[in-house]
Amino acid sequence: MNKEKIKRFENSADFFSCPICKEKLSMQGTSLVCTNNHNFDISKYGYVNFLLNMKQQKNYDKENFENRGLILKDGLYDHILNKLIEIIKNLPVDNILDVGCGEGYYSREIHKVLQKQLLAFDISKDSIQQAARHDLDNAVKWFVGDLAQLPIQDNSMDCILDIFSPANYSEFHRILTKNGYLIKVIPGENHVIELRQKASQFLRSDSYSNKKVKDYFEEHFETVDEIAVTKTYPVSADVRNAFIQMTPLLFNVDTERIDWSDVGNITVDSRILIGKS
Ligand SMILES: [Zn+2]
Repeated sequence: MNKEKIKRFENSADFFSCPICKEKLSMQGTSLVCTNNHNFDISKYGYVNFLLNMKQQKNYDKENFENRGLILKDGLYDHILNKLIEIIKNLPVDNILDVGCGEGYYSREIHKVLQKQLLAFDISKDSIQQAARHDLDNAVKWFVGDLAQLPIQDNSMDCILDIFSPANYSEFHRILTKNGYLIKVIPGENHVIELRQKASQFLRSDSYSNKKVKDYFEEHFETVDEIAVTKTYPVSADVRNAFIQMTPLLFNVDTERIDWSDVGNITVDSRILIGKS
């Protein structure tokens, strides 16, 4: 196997714990192994699958994946990426866990600029395989894992990144170091407002509130900052269609009945919540 693909897992004993017995996992040959000899292979692409067989899930949606890829490639989330880099740069943080990382765009880009230790996981094996294949620096420790039972040691992570992804606050508290940071990105109230206005006659409400998500965050973490990050982009018809298909707020709308052709701009609005453990 390609040594360069494996090298990134050499310091695994600092972070990973066995999902079966919770002991530390160390790299031995091409596997991560605990003292009870539970063994997890490092795949040739450069990731580890920690999901036990019975838990293996097929929740990979190829169309959604491609739509998201198109939008990211077009740079429509770059203002969020750049703000995250700026925030992390100014925090006393050496290592980062990216939760529900999907195809790994943010982790790869953050590593390129900041050269921090990055661990990143998703429950979808197909997503992680893609993430690892696109990681030309062989830098990020990718793994397939379960948010409810992270294969991560107690008090081992300085920072958790949770970008448009579900949270598990008790797991987050368990794995964060004392004074560790949780950075959570959620949609802002003007997110894709151009599409919602266009669809308003088919929506129960064309406004969106992130209050519930914010309240839940504040119940679990001391909020040290909240930053609005928003930008309106001109979009091609392809990118507009990708947004229409991806936006959960439009899932119950028959989008074929709407003439979208005069929607030439889309606003990507988010809030970055920064919490301290
Ligand atoms: Zn074990």
